Amino acid sequence: MRLFLSLLLLSLPLHASANWYSESREMMGTQVTVELWSEDKAKGLQIIEQAMAAMQRVDRMMNPLNPDSALYQVNQQAYAAPVSVPEALFGVIERALHYSRLSDGAFDISFASVGKYYDYRAGRAPSAEFVAQKRKHINYRAIALNPKNHSVAFHTGDLQVDLGGIAKGYAVDQAITVLIEAGIVAGFVSAGGDSRVLGDHGDRPRMIGIKHPRKKDEFAVMIPLADTAISTSGDYERFFIKDNIRLHHILDPKTGHSSGAVQSVSVLAPLAIDSDALSTTTFVLGVERGLALINSLPGIDAIIIDSEGKLHYSAGLLRQTP
Ligand code: ADP
Ligand code: MG
Repeated sequence: MRLFLSLLLLSLPLHASANWYSESREMMGTQVTVELWSEDKAKGLQIIEQAMAAMQRVDRMMNPLNPDSALYQVNQQAYAAPVSVPEALFGVIERALHYSRLSDGAFDISFASVGKYYDYRAGRAPSAEFVAQKRKHINYRAIALNPKNHSVAFHTGDLQVDLGGIAKGYAVDQAITVLIEAGIVAGFVSAGGDSRVLGDHGDRPRMIGIKHPRKKDEFAVMIPLADTAISTSGDYERFFIKDNIRLHHILDPKTGHSSGAVQSVSVLAPLAIDSDALSTTTFVLGVERGLALINSLPGIDAIIIDSEGKLHYSAGLLRQTP
């Protein structure tokens, strides 16, 4: 009888008593979600709190509108003299500059030198003359990093930095690190368009939908993911239409105006800091140059929806499609 019972127990699925726990909150100007698989409810909920707190710390450090943030101090003072910043902020700016160099400036956190004059919610854009005049202050080469004292200096006055194209991805990675360090083997973290899947979803991959850029509440593609980050940049999240032109939140640094190259880009990468930066980068580069960049990076893939709504896949995804 005892033998029978233990055989029965062995045949039950692993962690039969475990459950998925999930929390969503407003943070970083978007909805963030942390989900995880845990055998212990109290412990699971506590780890979710810790992951939320990790993202909150990133927001406090990197929100350019918060006068207490390290990034605010940089924007205020880095032209006058180098500003020492926390290691995390230094690392994110360093990664951002890496993608600026890779993309010949398509990704540029100093886009904000022009970008900060847009108000998408109010439907306000600066005049073409104003953009033409401010555009010269978009220049990642004028941002100097000193690894010895983790300092940031601007070589140009009027230069402003905004990490909106990379910080949410970094925050997602920080939350996933909390999960991993707490021993969680399956989880999911998302902040708006940036998500990362830890492990899988039970015994199968998690299905992630890529939003249709023109049909609200519809998906253009569903893809199965495990242990991967995915970020989507679209022209439909924050935009308004003026004189028949769609003005949205991704700027082409070369013109200072919204990039019209594509409607949406989703990038898959091991880390969300990379998928986030690369989705914005590829959006600005457009289909051809974007795919050339993605295909040159090992372990990175992309799905692009072009300006006509047509889908384009990177080489790694085409290899997987039968
Ligand atoms: P979100 O997840 O906020 O929709 P995306 O990853 O699509 O963000 O990136 C858009 C954000 O990136 C913008 O809101 C802005 O903060 C920033 N951004 C816009 N243009 C650029 C650019 N050329 N280089 C770097 N960052 C940019
Ligand atoms: Mg991005």
